[in-house]
Formats: sequence, structure tokens, C-alpha cells
Amino acid sequence: MSFKVPRGTQDILPGESEKWQKIEGIMRHLCHVYRYPELRTPMFESTELFQRGVGDSTDIVQKEMYTFEDRGGRSLTLRPEGTASISRSYVEHKMYGYADQPVKVSYLGPMFRYERSQKGRYRQFVQFGVEAIGSKDPAVDAEVIELAMRVYQEAGLKHLKLVINSLGDKEVRDAHRDALIAHFEPHIGEFCADCQKRLQQNPLRILDCKVDAANPLIEQAPQLTNYLNEESAAYFDQVKKYLDALGIDYVVDPNLVRGLDYYNHTAFEIMSTAEGFGAITTLCGGGRYNGLVEEIGGPESPGIGFGMSIERLLLALEAEEVALNIENDLDLFIVAMDEDAKLKAVELTSSFRVKGIATEIDYAGRKMKAQMKAADRLNAKYVIVLGGSELEEQAANVKNMETGDQEKVPFHDLVNYLLAHK
Ligand code: ATP
Ligand code: MG
Repeated sequence: MSFKVPRGTQDILPGESEKWQKIEGIMRHLCHVYRYPELRTPMFESTELFQRGVGDSTDIVQKEMYTFEDRGGRSLTLRPEGTASISRSYVEHKMYGYADQPVKVSYLGPMFRYERSQKGRYRQFVQFGVEAIGSKDPAVDAEVIELAMRVYQEAGLKHLKLVINSLGDKEVRDAHRDALIAHFEPHIGEFCADCQKRLQQNPLRILDCKVDAANPLIEQAPQLTNYLNEESAAYFDQVKKYLDALGIDYVVDPNLVRGLDYYNHTAFEIMSTAEGFGAITTLCGGGRYNGLVEEIGGPESPGIGFGMSIERLLLALEAEEVALNIENDLDLFIVAMDEDAKLKAVELTSSFRVKGIATEIDYAGRKMKAQMKAADRLNAKYVIVLGGSELEEQAANVKNMETGDQEKVPFHDLVNYLLAHK
């Protein structure tokens, strides 16, 4: 019997996990600077929350959710995205009553979607996202977009493209919806089964279909931009003005629609334009969702946010051949030549670790030479060898592995010496 990770999931091994932590560190730091503290919600929620909050006609709800019945007969679903949970929490904790609006929060954690697994598409993936709920100031839209861009820039990516669009308000979307139905209806037989269902449910989604993407009718479809009413157009102009002021380049793509039902006004995606990135070039998706909080039982509370996976960010780094600056972090390896030395090594190791000096010793009963090799493999910055004479003198040579230099340091001075040099 042999076990493997479930399809679409992966183990992140040491050596690789440092990259994740580095990226997560960038995200956490930016959230601190932009004031988006973390809101942690459960990994599963009632199924109905996602049906309402993501939307019944979306791929996510139709075919990607991990839904199960618990022993109490409740239908629960592993979260496929973050916005619905954050909105639920906003309503449940009456955050709409907070004096400071919008309420700005972030999340970082695994999401689950039953997808056809391929490069950049997993069944469990780690999503970072932010939400700002309770304001429809277009400056917030620009802030959220800027924050998303900053994550990629801080990680070292250069080949980025920001695509934005306006989905308008309800009036705009209704008028556009009618036009789309009229456009596609006579030819709907040419489209996939999903699109045939989408025609009445949510024809906007046809534009986002991955199966029919090449059908010229999609290119020729009535564009939402032409249906924008004055208010929506003015809002979009404001967002663009703020982006200009922030010096953020963007491309307006009238065909950009987001997969989730609840989006309106601003929609955006950040793509990688790096050569060799592969088929899936979207790194981040986000937008405004002014009706969502009402949809799940709260008062009118306009929101905006984005979601991005660490998996795709790492792929983009690979495509651009950007190496994250990950420090070698083993400060010291202590080699012990015999049992007495081992006892002292254990004692010293503990006293160094208490002071924050990353220290390793041998637990495999290896001879001195093999221990030295291990220290080398582990890339230790310093090595101390302990034997009879060191114990006698109560001092040891500290060897700088990079330069080969050695210096004799009394045991009682080792902590200070290493703190000063590591
Ligand atoms: P796609 O069109 O690629 O399926 P989506 O519209 O389903 O994306 P969103 O729901 O908007 O994506 O999710 C936002 C971000 O989350 C994506 O831009 C991507 O970075 C990430 N993401 C979504 N699904 C996956 C997945 N299965 N594996 C890895 N990352 C994912
Ligand atoms: Mg998807």
C-alpha cells in the first residue's frame, strides 16, 4: 500500500516552504502598511453562504465546491474563496456599525475547489486577499488595486499587466444582459452546454467561458462599456484618475468580466506577461461587490477586494527567473568529538538558541569528519569543534565557514561573539 497526496494538492517541502513564508511575509507587511489587519474565518461554512455569496450560476458553485454533510445533517462546504466568509463575518459581527468605514481586512489561507488540476490550478491552493467593506469611494478601489500590484512588485516581478473594466451598476447590467441574450440566443446551439444554461441565468458569464473563448460571437458581443450610465461612467473615470495619480499603468478591457456573480463597477485582473508563463496568466482577480452584503442579510455596504494565490505568484517568479532573497539561516553547527563534548554541545546549543542563534548538532552518532560534512551541507555560517582540549580550556575555535578564519573564544563569551558576528 502506498499513499500519495490527493490529486490537485501538494506537499510544500522545506527548501520550498521558505519561499512561501517569504511571500507571506511580504503580504503581511503590506497589510500592515496599508492597514488591512487579518480576519480569520473558518475553513468551512454553510453551503448556502457560498450559493448566495458567490452565486448559483458560477462555475464555483455549479461544479467546484467540496460540499459534505456533517454528522448533524448540515450541508457544509470547504471555502472556495474568501469574500463570502468575510462578508458573513462583517454582518455577523455588525461591523457596519463601526465608526470607521470602510472596514478593511485581509485573509491568507487555503481555499478548495474541485478543478481539473493542471499547472497553476490546484484543488487546494493558498489565497491571499483583502476586502474593504462600507465605502464606495473610488479612491478605495485604487488603493486595493495598488496593494495587489505592490505584492507582485515587492516579490520582484516586472512583467505585469493590470487590466480593468467597469461592470456598471444594476441598471447597466440589466440593459446589457438583455442585449447579450438577444445577441447569443439565435446561435446558442453553437455553444457549450454550460453556456446554454448561462444564457438565461447569467449571460455575462458566456464572455468568460473557457470552452467557447474562440467563438467570434464572443468578440462581437455587445460591450458593457457602451451601456454604462452616467453615474457608472463617472465612477469608472474617478477610479482611473486615482490610478493615474498613483502612477499605476492599466489597460481597459471591455471584455473583462469576473467569474463571480456579485461584482459590479470596478473589475480588475493582474496578469503575468512573462514569456513561458503558460496558459493561465491571471495572477490576481478582484473587483467591487456593492450588493453582496445585502444579499447575505446585512445592510447596504459596498465592498471591494481581490484574491490571489501564492501558487500562481511562484509560477510567475519562476517564469521571470526571479530568485527570492532567502537568507541562509543556520548560524552555527557544533561538532562534538566524544560523549563529554556532546554533553557540553547540548548545553551550549540550548543557551545559544535561547539567544536566537540558530544552532544545530549531530544526532546520528557520526564521526567528526562526517559532522563537518553535515555542517557544510547545511550551510552553517560558523562551526565550533568540541573535544577534550576545548573542555579543558573552556574555550573553542569558532570557524567562519565562508572565509575559513578561526578565532578562539572562551565559552562564556561565545553568545556575545556569535551575536555580534552572525
Ligand atoms: P480562473 O479564471 O483562473 O479559474 P477564477 O476567476 O476562478 O480564476 P478567482 O475566483 O477570481 O479566480 O480567484 C482569484 C485568484 O485566485 C486567481 O487569480 C488565482 O490567483 C487564484 N486561483 C483561483 N483558482 C485557483 C486554483 N485552482 N489554483 C491556484 N490558484 C487559483
Ligand atoms: Mg476558476
